[in-house]
Amino acid sequence: MTATTHAGVTFGNRFARELPELSAPWEAEPAPAPHLVLLNEALAVELGFDAEFLRSSDGVSVLLGASVPEGATPVAQAYAGHQFGQYSPRLGDGRALLLGEVTDTRGRLRDIHLKGSGRTAFARGGDGRAVLGPMLREFIVSEAMHALGIPTTRSLSVTLTGRQVQRDDVLPGAVLTRVASSHLRVGSFQFARATGDLELLRRLADHAIARHFPSAAKAANPYLAFFERVVSAQAKLVAQWMLVGFVHGVMNTDNMTISGETIDYGPCAFLDAFDPDAVFSSIDLQGRYSFRNQPHAAGWNLARFAETLLPLFADDEDAAVALAEQAVSGFGPVYQEAWVSGMRSKLGLPGDVAPDTFERLLGELLTLMQRSGADYTSTFRALGAYARGNRTPALDIFGEAGPAFRTWAQAWLALSPNASAMDAANPVYIPRNHLVEEALEAALDDELEPTRRLLAAVTAPFDERPGLDRYATGAPQDFGDYVTFCGT
Ligand code: AMP
Ligand code: MG
Repeated sequence: MTATTHAGVTFGNRFARELPELSAPWEAEPAPAPHLVLLNEALAVELGFDAEFLRSSDGVSVLLGASVPEGATPVAQAYAGHQFGQYSPRLGDGRALLLGEVTDTRGRLRDIHLKGSGRTAFARGGDGRAVLGPMLREFIVSEAMHALGIPTTRSLSVTLTGRQVQRDDVLPGAVLTRVASSHLRVGSFQFARATGDLELLRRLADHAIARHFPSAAKAANPYLAFFERVVSAQAKLVAQWMLVGFVHGVMNTDNMTISGETIDYGPCAFLDAFDPDAVFSSIDLQGRYSFRNQPHAAGWNLARFAETLLPLFADDEDAAVALAEQAVSGFGPVYQEAWVSGMRSKLGLPGDVAPDTFERLLGELLTLMQRSGADYTSTFRALGAYARGNRTPALDIFGEAGPAFRTWAQAWLALSPNASAMDAANPVYIPRNHLVEEALEAALDDELEPTRRLLAAVTAPFDERPGLDRYATGAPQDFGDYVTFCGT
């Protein structure tokens, strides 16, 4: 039996209380030798925790789920999901627990969630565990995304359990303590709908509306308004991924939040050389979740989400389907508008450049980048320098395509791009795949400095600083094709 502790922050159990059909009360597996590896102090403070307490052995106990804070009811959440298009009726938290919710210092309700806390009723064949490398990876990438201004779950801590975990090698077991505005997913609704209990589905939708889109409750058709807001949030989210060159890698419906936050950093990666067809995940053989397919995949998931909500849209099925189709079709325009406006910022071009001029210019640039294998992130940053008259970085990137680039740049410069605005839109530092791997490898030898240095770079991504050049450059030639893995 786990002990109860006072964490200095008031925990609640709203999800567990309001939706008992969608969770199983559970306890974390005991950790033989807990050890805190990384603590996100700024986030701890934002949540109202005393960072000193979290560093103490009682605090680490909370971060691992070994002691349950007063007011919390840890549960494994149930959800279904389409994985690579195949429907699985029962996924759920196989190795994770929702510890409870806290109200942060700004009054927002936040989930505190443990990933790698042991087998649950949903574990199927899995061991319920997580290992150090992938949990640090989620910490680094999620915090980088947050700093880039992209909605995401956050990472509070990574803690070693002291248990050795069998993967291809034997690796140190770890728990990631994750924070989200909620862990409601499209798959949560698929699970609720599949029970056939429409009152449960309605209660879940009401819970989601109250937590994420309270204004929808006042609409003429609240559930349709709710759905439209999720569509819009997801369209804007995926546009932001596309603007920074992020490939999520496993956009299954169980990995798509209702809040519009990015979740589940498994096989994700950032583009180095610009390649619209880039796929990093070892299991994505068809390229279903390739860079360029992400908007399409999101739209597909939202159509599955709409299907679960049909009975709430209208009593008449045909009417409900018509409403759903219309709402799903709202994805394209919102996505396009967010992406184009983001690209306008990246190119430093104010809104008064005519849309067709802008789109032609952008199309030409992307084609040039693709042909010359230009580094996606560095190119946009180098364009800012180019606009200021420092032409070397961009010309180095385009190499043999230099003359073609100069011709393009002449047309672009004629539109007077705003270099400072570009620097605020184009990051210098992203979690480069080779640097993430380097940091994780060092961490296996108890060497945390590379992780800390990488975090320092990517959590202030627009702020170019001396001495951080290696964090601003793409992978060396010998890094090869990057391959990522799920469920580790
Ligand atoms: P993910 O690919 O991380 O989104 O996980 C997909 C599903 O597999 C979820 O239901 C997870 O809880 C489950 N899962 C992943 N890894 C494990 C594991 N080691 N043990 C138990 N369940 C797992
Ligand atoms: Mg998942």
